[in-house]
Amino acid sequence: MSTPPTARPNRTDPRSRVPRTDLLLATDAATRAIDTRGRRFVKQVVREVQDAVRAGDLPPESAESELRTRLDRPLLGLRRVLNGTGVLVHTNLGRSPLSAAARSAVELAAGTCDLELDLATGRRGRRGTSLEAALLAAVPAAGGAHVVNNGAAALALTTAALGRGGEVIVSRGELIEIGAGFRIPDLIESTGARIREVGTTNRTHLDDYRDAIGADTRLILKIHPSNYRVEGFTAEVGVPELATLGVPVVSDIGSGLLRPHPLLPAEPDAATHLTAGAAVVTASGDKLLGGPQAGLVLTARAELAQTLKRHPMSRAFRADKLTLAALEATLTGPDAPVRTMLETTQAQLRERAEAVVARLSGIDADVLDTVSTVGGGGAPGARLPSCGVSLPEPLAAALRDAPVPVLARAEHGRCVVDLRAIDPADLDQLVASVRHVAAAAE
Ligand SMILES: *Cc1c(COP(=O)(O)O)cnc(C)c1O
Repeated sequence: MSTPPTARPNRTDPRSRVPRTDLLLATDAATRAIDTRGRRFVKQVVREVQDAVRAGDLPPESAESELRTRLDRPLLGLRRVLNGTGVLVHTNLGRSPLSAAARSAVELAAGTCDLELDLATGRRGRRGTSLEAALLAAVPAAGGAHVVNNGAAALALTTAALGRGGEVIVSRGELIEIGAGFRIPDLIESTGARIREVGTTNRTHLDDYRDAIGADTRLILKIHPSNYRVEGFTAEVGVPELATLGVPVVSDIGSGLLRPHPLLPAEPDAATHLTAGAAVVTASGDKLLGGPQAGLVLTARAELAQTLKRHPMSRAFRADKLTLAALEATLTGPDAPVRTMLETTQAQLRERAEAVVARLSGIDADVLDTVSTVGGGGAPGARLPSCGVSLPEPLAAALRDAPVPVLARAEHGRCVVDLRAIDPADLDQLVASVRHVAAAAE
């Protein structure tokens, strides 16, 4: 390549024109970002931009705009998305969305708060007291309650405290993997208990349990297979029968349903299992209960909850203040979004779908009846008649890339946005995202 005769050689080398640090730090974008992101971060980005100029990868005159672009990048790797999959509790989308009450509670707890202080006396107080009271009020059959950081921790702490050095009896049909390679039997054995498998994959009888009980038996564990179903020639033993065997029964119900729900008749709930004689019920706080990720341990007797709290591992499983606050507000506030979404009728969803379609004139959009599910969080096989918006198939990928992404389903060669798991307050955003990608596709 020949150098144009008018160019002065020492001016064409970009490295000699690296913008000065103080000038870049004084730009509007940088001064703004120093307030929101901190000086150290901004200086680091300035250095990266200067390095790019020095390396010849960026023309010096673009340094300022490149700096602006880099500083405007979102603070988090996480992005808000709309859940148009029709899967109510979607593991990949953060499971349960929190209620407005729970979000405000997180905001309050984010500052300094009387987490472990008794304001009346000025002395140290016990954390989680008001949350435990809310749990006991929600499940009167429970004598004690303890909250840990997730459902797996609730089960691990319970087996560590009750099963150590002995045997935990579990039906072969309930030795489940709960996701991404996490297997409940491995979790239990890691606490020092041995698993005694009984029955077969499809059928287990009361006598199988009875025959397995011996001097080493510490507890019987009943696990709800929350992400699959065995159909056909099956038999399982319920908590009422297991409770007659004279060994503590621990029931991992999975989804955190505190009371029976008419729409989910096959889903176990804490109140029923405690009333039926379970010594302990463990569950997640962020599946069908609709709160933050947390683990609930509800015990029939108050003392057992105290034993669990005093166990050394309990500190390692401790829930943080944001979780405690959000869970309490979920229990004491209005219905959690997951519950409202579960109970919305198909007719209501159809009305919403019609309203959305009416706002998508010029786009190939139709109202479509669909079926939504609860998801990996519970109620396997439950089918909820739902409704959604059907769009041209290629929009599915484009919607994932929208400024506010929408996760849809691919069905019958169409992109289907199921409305059940989308908050009605987000329908404006849904319309905006669809219009955005449809315009870009033209
Ligand atoms: C989801 C689930 C767990 C694990 O709960 P996390 O809150 O994800 O730790 C344990 N047992 C059952 C039956 C579950 O469904």
